[in-house]
Amino acid sequence: MNEEKILTALDEGELEKLLSPAPSFRARQLFKWIYRDVLSFDEMTNLPVSFRDELKKRFILCDSAVKKRLVDEDGTVKLLVAFSGGAGAEAVLLKDGKGRCTACLSVQAGCPVGCVFCKTGSLGFSRSLQAHEITEQFLHLSRESSAPIGNIVVMGMGEPFFNLDALRKALFLVGKGKGLSPRRFTVSTSGIPRGILDLSENGPKAELAFSLVSAREDLRGRLMPGVREFSLAEIKNALGIYQKKNGRRITLEAVLLGGINTGPEDARAILDFARGLFVVVNVIPWNPVNGLCFEGKPLREPDACETETFIRTLEQGGQNVTRRFRKGRGVCGACGQLGQRLQQGGN
Ligand code: SAH
Ligand code: SF4
Repeated sequence: MNEEKILTALDEGELEKLLSPAPSFRARQLFKWIYRDVLSFDEMTNLPVSFRDELKKRFILCDSAVKKRLVDEDGTVKLLVAFSGGAGAEAVLLKDGKGRCTACLSVQAGCPVGCVFCKTGSLGFSRSLQAHEITEQFLHLSRESSAPIGNIVVMGMGEPFFNLDALRKALFLVGKGKGLSPRRFTVSTSGIPRGILDLSENGPKAELAFSLVSAREDLRGRLMPGVREFSLAEIKNALGIYQKKNGRRITLEAVLLGGINTGPEDARAILDFARGLFVVVNVIPWNPVNGLCFEGKPLREPDACETETFIRTLEQGGQNVTRRFRKGRGVCGACGQLGQRLQQGGN
């Protein structure tokens, strides 16, 4: 399918060109309808029937399908979205205690970084998603949501900076269509310096989260083989540049793997890394994924004592810390639990 024919890939200017010689307000009307979550051209009631018929012939409103839908007791909804050509990715709708909704989107089918603790990483890599495939994840989630979605976190499957152009376009479209400012977007990266610099130069002005995992270079490289080539010094330098430009606090995500990166020396290494940056450390106790091992030993969740001691060491070092509460574990929709091959059943 030619991407130009898929409406969720197009901004108002592009629509206007394709619809010419129709008056430009038709493009604006059409763009608005796409982001009102309609499922058919016939719902676009302020467009003349003849124009709708033309649209039906020339365009596709949505190029993906929800193949599976799981709802957790805590309200989290996980969708498996199937794209043309057979690839699939998961998107998650998270609700907080106040009823606010956040969309967690994927940027790739699988992930080439291959972090040993992450379900997506264990699947291998199929391909990067196109802009409309990211936009459509949001629209599918929006149809599930009783309240408007106020935030987007790019924390699903894949590495955002290995697919930044498509992500940028999708965030632009959703931001425009839904009236969300870039401050409502959080991009989480495993640490690609050139990507951080590109985002800093060319926007959007999103919040940035960096999956530090370990500030001990050697251990980090063994846990996250696909980004081993980038040194922590290089990444820190890029984060510093981003921060100077953006002026916002950066989140350092620290997944705690029981017995592996939870010791006092691990916490102290994070304190060293954070020095000179304005950051909050988000501690994420590892969400279990069956069958994942590190150097021959099965991974395990950190126990309460490990987690508390780790947090205390950071706080005693003067570091701001938050702890990620767990959402969606019942549907394997929590961090690092995303990944399902389209052909297979189960989670
Ligand atoms: N690829 C990007 C974004 C997706 S992963 C990145 O790595 O940042 C989103 C977050 O989930 C990352 O902080 C990652 O470290 C964390 N994560 C991965 N697997 C996890 C697991 N099993 N339990 C808890 N967090 C996990
Ligand atoms: Fe990829 Fe992020 Fe999972 Fe690592 S944690 S494998 S970078 S999705």
